[in-house]
Amino acid sequence: SVLVFVKEPYHLEKRCALLPDNVKIYKRLGATVQVESQIGDTLGFTDQHYIDAGAEIFTDRSAALSTAHAVLSVRPLALEELAQTPQSCCSISFFDPFNSPDKITSLLDNKRSCISMELIPRSTRCQKMDALSSQASLAGYVMVLKAMSNLHKTLPMMMTPAGTLKPAKVFIIGVGVAGLQAIATAKRMGANVIAYDTRPECAQQVQSLGAKFLNIDLGVTESTDQGYAKALSEEQLTLQQQAQADCIADSDIVITTAQLFGRKPPLLISNDVILRMKPGSVIVDMAALDGGNVEASVAGETIIYKAVKIVGDGDWAGEVALDASQMYANNLMALVQDMYNTETSLFTVDAQNDVLKSALVTYNGEVINPILKSQYT
Ligand code: NAD
Repeated sequence: SVLVFVKEPYHLEKRCALLPDNVKIYKRLGATVQVESQIGDTLGFTDQHYIDAGAEIFTDRSAALSTAHAVLSVRPLALEELAQTPQSCCSISFFDPFNSPDKITSLLDNKRSCISMELIPRSTRCQKMDALSSQASLAGYVMVLKAMSNLHKTLPMMMTPAGTLKPAKVFIIGVGVAGLQAIATAKRMGANVIAYDTRPECAQQVQSLGAKFLNIDLGVTESTDQGYAKALSEEQLTLQQQAQADCIADSDIVITTAQLFGRKPPLLISNDVILRMKPGSVIVDMAALDGGNVEASVAGETIIYKAVKIVGDGDWAGEVALDASQMYANNLMALVQDMYNTETSLFTVDAQNDVLKSALVTYNGEVINPILKSQYT
């Protein structure tokens, strides 16, 4: 089968879906690996690195797309490019499935298959393919670094003849994969860390990292069968906002990582609470590009609001693009290996495969993922 790796469709993307080391493993499966010229530029890999590993380099993207069995990338192909692939072709990327209705309609009309890495099940079997987790973990780490570099204070306590510096206070809201890594990173730097999540089971995870869990009694909070938090009622959200306000006002750094799968992230910090923070404090809003957990955050920017810095840069994992690429490329490889038919040695899209029952957006003119299916019928 011909696996085509394109240069990233989004020009600011620094990550890459294939490292030279991955080529040999794809070739061992029996695949032909075609790689667009300059694919590794952002990471310092030349075309020769890929050639030495056994890949073929192409410069004519349309021609390569027209013969592909699979097209793999970090960001999704543009609508016109999806249409240039043959009907048997499957595109695999972070497809942004809940914000791409035009692409889904086109995939359905043209009967193209598409796998969205956001829809890989969060199960033990799929851990190796779980690109949301691999990238979120790096994001958690990067957000602490960003906060540190914007704060005019040290994180650890320092006792010196010139005086004692108190450890910084860090409050992390949302304790999924990113939040846990942010807690671990801030703890390693010597900060005092408090965290909160609406899922009660997070309390123990927070404590096992040596941080404190902020207890807020919201009554019953629900999760989906995949473990994602469900949206709070309006009363619960108001209660949460009030109960965490003192902790926010008292913190040097607040990092928000709260997400709701397939929905807009919840608004957790309103401007009146920011007014209570000390001048020079820092908020990092992981969700800024998707609407934000913080009222004042601006997508893609670091701003100062009433003497508080608010970091809404996004592209967190891209700040450590080599590691992010290595992890993402490994996630892709695990998925492709799982899809390879061992008898025919061919890349095969089997809509009955447990992983694909969730991860397939479209197949043969149908929407497969159950959540999306209900939106397109
Ligand atoms: P996510 O990115 O969807 O959300 C981040 C966190 O925000 C979640 O912990 C969520 O509970 C929290 N949140 C939502 N609303 C909030 C609010 N109002 N206030 C505070 N926090 C709020 O989460 P994720 O990191 O993708 O993890 C989702 C689930 O998947 C978790 O249950 C996680 O343990 C699970 N998971 C399982 C595996 C596996 O078993 N292989 C792998 C990764 C994640």
